[in-house]
Amino acid sequence: MQLSELSWPAVHKLPPDTPVVLPIAALEQHGPHLPLYTDSFLVGEVARRANEELGELVLFAPVMWLGNSHHHLDFAGTMTAAPGAYLEMLRTMVDCVLAHGFKRIVLLNGHGGNSVPGQQVLYEVRQAHRERKDLLLLLANYWALGSDPSPSIPGLKHKIEHACQWETSMMLWLRPDLVGDFRAVEKAEWGNPFQPASRAWTMPDVSPQGHVGDPALATPEIGEALFRVFAADVVAFLRRVTGWDGRSWNG
Ligand SMILES: [Zn+2]
Repeated sequence: MQLSELSWPAVHKLPPDTPVVLPIAALEQHGPHLPLYTDSFLVGEVARRANEELGELVLFAPVMWLGNSHHHLDFAGTMTAAPGAYLEMLRTMVDCVLAHGFKRIVLLNGHGGNSVPGQQVLYEVRQAHRERKDLLLLLANYWALGSDPSPSIPGLKHKIEHACQWETSMMLWLRPDLVGDFRAVEKAEWGNPFQPASRAWTMPDVSPQGHVGDPALATPEIGEALFRVFAADVVAFLRRVTGWDGRSWNG
């Protein structure tokens, strides 16, 4: 079900155990060849497919396109919430869902920069309702819910990066009209910035063109295969959420 298409009495009548999915993404630069809305397009397509499969079992909110993207601000067009405002916005969205009586909330994330603030918000909301045992507050990155798809998709590099082969392939399948000359974009590597520590960064520290990975290797066939894998992973994950007994730690 799509929250945007229901009336308030229809939402009011839903069982409170219905999982509510809040897809969160970004409007940020994606290299010289992809549109700024890439992360929102991609998580939106994964959510659309999952919604088709799950029907009445799960309620999907519209994609929240404003993300935590300060590290991309050197590139024209990027829009971001201030980091503190982003925390506050996500917290308010989660609080709204709780106020309407729902107990199972999934932040379905489509942008790496949202992971840390999303987890922080869910941590804080859980502590604010610490007496409750019936809350299930989850953040899931759509690309990291299953096993590595690279061995099963011919020609696929081993991991997702930024405006890389994976994202470019999915955009080639979804909106080829918006993809620029990806074959001319040279490979850019993440490197080893003092790993395994986590180094603070801005995108120009890593890549002056704004991408990490090898977009020239993208194909629409890889994109369609990735969407199938990711949508199936999200469906399987949301079935775990619907199947939760409402009390247990494990699920
Ligand atoms: Zn992206």
